[in-house]
Amino acid sequence: MQRDVADLARGEFDLLVCGGGIYGAWTAYDAALRGLRVAIVEQGDWASATSSASSKLIHGGLRYLETYDFKLVKKALAERQLLLDVAPHRVWPLRFGVPVYRDSRVGKLRMQAGLMLYDALAGCPAKELAHRVFNREEFSARFPLLKNTALTGGFTYGDAQTDDARLVLELIDGAQQLGAVCVNHCRLTTMIEVNGIASGATVQDQTSGEQMQIKARQIVHTTGQWISATAQGKSWCRMSKGVHLVMPGGLTDEAVLLTAPQDGRVFFILPWYGMTLLGTTDDDYRGDANQVHVEPADVGYLLTAANHYLNTAWSEADIVGRYAGVRVMQRGDAHHPSQLSRDWQLRTADNGVHYSVGGKITSARVDAGHIVDTVCARLGAGSACMTGDRLFPWTPSTDYTAWCAGIRQQAAQLGVDEHSSLWLIRRHGERAADVLAGIAADARLARRITPTLPLIVADVLYCARTEMVVHLDDLLRRRLPLLILARPDHDTLHNIAHRVAPILGWDEHRVHAEIQRCLP
Ligand SMILES: Cc1cc2nc3c(=O)[nH]c(=O)nc-3n(C[C@H](O)[C@H](O)[C@H](O)COP(=O)(O)OP(=O)(O)OC[C@H]3O[C@@H](n4cnc5c(N)ncnc54)[C@H](O)[C@@H]3O)c2cc1C
Repeated sequence: MQRDVADLARGEFDLLVCGGGIYGAWTAYDAALRGLRVAIVEQGDWASATSSASSKLIHGGLRYLETYDFKLVKKALAERQLLLDVAPHRVWPLRFGVPVYRDSRVGKLRMQAGLMLYDALAGCPAKELAHRVFNREEFSARFPLLKNTALTGGFTYGDAQTDDARLVLELIDGAQQLGAVCVNHCRLTTMIEVNGIASGATVQDQTSGEQMQIKARQIVHTTGQWISATAQGKSWCRMSKGVHLVMPGGLTDEAVLLTAPQDGRVFFILPWYGMTLLGTTDDDYRGDANQVHVEPADVGYLLTAANHYLNTAWSEADIVGRYAGVRVMQRGDAHHPSQLSRDWQLRTADNGVHYSVGGKITSARVDAGHIVDTVCARLGAGSACMTGDRLFPWTPSTDYTAWCAGIRQQAAQLGVDEHSSLWLIRRHGERAADVLAGIAADARLARRITPTLPLIVADVLYCARTEMVVHLDDLLRRRLPLLILARPDHDTLHNIAHRVAPILGWDEHRVHAEIQRCLP
């Protein structure tokens, strides 16, 4: 992936996308597939906002059944299946346990009815996703992390998981391969209008400070929470903050869905890269879009909720990492943000600029299809969405199971541990073979960068070389989630920064500045 800012000033684009989260990425990829001349700019790194701060689930959203949002659940479940089919490396099945206690807010019968409906809305899914019923002993044996006093039984059901930041990156790479001009660290500062209609924008390269003008026939803002920067945008949406804590790994291979004793809200305990994610909170957010932080109250809420169920309580000292993101939802009267619909909407302002409002990572593909349909209608271009049955940019084109077995065998021969090779496949798809080629040339690259995480040195170097990395935190937070899932010390950061400095053209002064960006 190449970053070429000068390409933005070359000629007129059919479509300029502002914002490189999941909605921007899908929109740019979809439009490029339809043959449009596309540019996408992102003020920070790809997926640097909410699209890397999610629960990483590709799911229908079991809890939305409680708000009777059946249409949304059905749409998301269809997308779940589609993504499992076309991107098996990027989206993989994950089974959830749901305990039922004597005082559970949702009792056994209601939970079973909900799970039957969930399966029905998915169109009776394959066995690996369908729900199962467990008696008290069976459930307790399967989820020994949970207390079993007053447990009456439980269920499991299937959903799916991803690496959200890499999902966005893969789509940006796909768009770029199709000719889209994709530039991160480039901020749209002002719209250019002719007779009240937008005809382009001024952008500023955040690395050099240089400004330039982009001409575009259609413009879409997929700017997430920054939509609230305008009075009009503010009137369209309501925002809520969601926090996750990263806890030690190994607790569970399967996820757990629980309800917080404080307010009855659903939260999750999720395995991810061998660590455990605990989240999320859901509270109205009226603060600065650029300053979204985890507050002590968020930590207190999540630990209290989890410890209500865990046999071995977590304390603040166990927290390895934390992150916060902002959900954008359509404005509504609901008292609490968790009661608002997560569905998506496209708004068009008087100057012809389109705004994506709300949505989910899970359903962003189909929503982006509507965005590009609207853009095509305005352009008078009549092509249909092509993302529906198309393999992802990095999906291997041969039989997936056989391909995985081949890669894992090759990785083992090169000295890559089993867990790292699983994640290598999930992170890179068919490009995993290129990462392994690096190890074939230098066997030392097979080792992990830190003992607790399944991330190897060859991977860091490969990402630095090929994945449009501008800053060290692009590399260590989103290309690989090291800064999220571990607390690397100064020496580790120093070693990595020096390893990638020749690739990224950094001198000693820049290395120092980049390390500072990564320190808490
Ligand atoms: C806590 C939490 C958990 C969630 N969990 C899930 C989940 O498990 N599954 C799921 O499907 N969904 C989940 N969601 C919802 C999902 O994460 C969001 O719907 C999705 O990430 C929104 O994507 P987006 O592209 O609209 O916004 P963003 O990802 O926020 O992207 C907007 C981008 O626009 C850029 N931008 C803004 N202004 C400018 C400008 N002037 N110039 C250039 N760039 C600009 C920003 O830097 C940003 O990167 C969750 C949300 C939250 C908050």
